[in-house]
Amino acid sequence: MGVTGGREGHEGDEGVFDAMAAIPDGAAPGDQQDRDLDAIVIGAGFAGIYMVYRLRESGFAVRGLEAGGGVGGTWYWNRYPGARCDSESMYYSFSFLPDFEQEWPLEQRYPTQPVILRYLQTVAERLDLLKDFRFGTRVTSVTWDEPAARWTVRSAGGYEATARFLITAVGALSAANVPAFPGAETFAGEQYSTANWPHAPVPLAGQRVGLIGTGSSGVQVLPELAKEAGAVTVFQRTPQFVTPAQAGPLDPQLVAMWKANYREIRRRTKFTPGGIPIPGPHVSAFELSEHERRARCEEAWRRGGIWFLDGTFIDAVTDVAANTVVADFVRSKIDEIIDDPETAEKLKPRTYPWGTKRVPIGSDFYETFNRQNVRLVDLRADPIEAITPRGIRTASAEHELDVIVYATGFDALTGALTRLGVRGRGGTALPDAWPGGPRTYLGLSVPAFPNLFTITGPGSPGVVTNVPAAIEQHVEWIDELLCFARARGSTTIEAAQDATTEWTTHVQDVASQTLYASADSWYMGANIPGKPRVFLPYIGGLDVYRRKCDEIAAAGYPGYAFDGAAAPALQGAGHGAG
Ligand SMILES: Cc1cc2nc3c(=O)[nH]c(=O)nc-3n(C[C@H](O)[C@H](O)[C@H](O)COP(=O)(O)OP(=O)(O)OC[C@H]3O[C@@H](n4cnc5c(N)ncnc54)[C@H](O)[C@@H]3O)c2cc1C
Repeated sequence: MGVTGGREGHEGDEGVFDAMAAIPDGAAPGDQQDRDLDAIVIGAGFAGIYMVYRLRESGFAVRGLEAGGGVGGTWYWNRYPGARCDSESMYYSFSFLPDFEQEWPLEQRYPTQPVILRYLQTVAERLDLLKDFRFGTRVTSVTWDEPAARWTVRSAGGYEATARFLITAVGALSAANVPAFPGAETFAGEQYSTANWPHAPVPLAGQRVGLIGTGSSGVQVLPELAKEAGAVTVFQRTPQFVTPAQAGPLDPQLVAMWKANYREIRRRTKFTPGGIPIPGPHVSAFELSEHERRARCEEAWRRGGIWFLDGTFIDAVTDVAANTVVADFVRSKIDEIIDDPETAEKLKPRTYPWGTKRVPIGSDFYETFNRQNVRLVDLRADPIEAITPRGIRTASAEHELDVIVYATGFDALTGALTRLGVRGRGGTALPDAWPGGPRTYLGLSVPAFPNLFTITGPGSPGVVTNVPAAIEQHVEWIDELLCFARARGSTTIEAAQDATTEWTTHVQDVASQTLYASADSWYMGANIPGKPRVFLPYIGGLDVYRRKCDEIAAAGYPGYAFDGAAAPALQGAGHGAG
């Protein structure tokens, strides 16, 4: 059987089918054409919602297109048990709704998937945005019409629209990656992807479940599967440095304090590197004694989540020795938590520096391996050979299963973009414009693809920040640029080659000052066979990036050509990392 719910929710597949009932009035499926639009926005997650709203408020005729049956993006698709956000509730929201942020209840330290989905649905309803979206519409072709200087967009179901501007809000982590294991189609049981979990509850009681993947989603889903299933076999390729979330209810007094100061907190958040105003560590591992280092790690571990990720040492991801202190600490915690030394050993990461792959934040992940009904298979020693009708066959055994859950990640940052079927000037396909890896100006624009803007695209700080904070910056900046072009009567805006080369080089230079490039991570495209190995996001900080973008806007957008005229040169000596 195939993966239930479809891997991506193509128009007409089951994942979309059951959500089609939610299509609101005004986005009638029979309405097959949209002409004369100023802008099309693809995606209805945080980015699409805000982009459509901003453009509409700026007086542009805008249409949002979304493959899913409603708003929510990530939180529409990733409905697996245990799905929740690693960003704390206070930050994981829009900052442009001061009244609503006072009303919206903050109950848990980390919002769960249903809460975030409800939040985004409520925002879309309050802003009267549902009528501006067309749901159940998967875009499969996007073509630049040179004479008309417009984009033509087509969907799998035959919908067609044209617009002057095209803004992709397709998500940096939305193109699911389900590896093609030989024999997967022969499996007699059910198969699910965490990235496209069914809307109806999945019955797991008494079932023998195989979980493939122990990245962020695998770490979240495992404890929930283990509570319900008869037995869970975890197939692990790469051990992770899992950080405890220390999840729980928020203290009402803290929430009240927070709400009283929300505006000021939001203002400060805009100028933080990660879109979260936590005080950095400010201390090198080498300024402390061994005892102090351990105490510092213990305290950060106790606080959990981002406080461990960003709260140990200032040199934790730039210096190998400092990094080893943190890595050793986590390995010691694994020993402390896991009863069986052999399992503990298999769970210890040893092949890459701590923090250089996305650090999963979990609740009871390691503890779950002490349950009688959970087993770990180390795929490095015992690789998957095939999926059979009865289960998963590894080199050493056949593991009999009723259900397989794929938590195998995403074709991050570029996957959703390259799957759009975009063709720019001269019919150039987007993947062909990026043979050695993506080249963008500010993560937002690509030469030869005029009037196209890519929210949280490669080269943007999006995925290494609290993502909504980066999204808001991108959306506001794009809206202002479009207003600028309209005011001067321009019809095309295009990133210049030299500015793009400079930005792309800068993105790699900043990454090379850290240990990030040394890991086989999705940040490096390493999880997708054949994907060029370059560091995909901009790691210089959202604060630095914001200032850079503000300077560019204030200077009249150097690095962009308007109406085909030569782009004004960038001023100053490149993009300092700040
Ligand atoms: C499991 C998980 C946990 C996460 N946890 C965090 C966290 O703790 N903190 C954090 O900051 N971020 C987190 N993220 C990242 C999260 O993706 C962002 O925070 C945010 O939701 C991204 O919003 P977006 O609108 O950019 O993209 P998305 O929410 O991904 O929305 C993109 C939308 O575009 C649609 N789309 C894509 N291609 C097409 C097409 N061809 N045609 C039509 N529609 C299309 C998709 O269907 C999707 O609905 C997490 C991501 C995942 C997957």
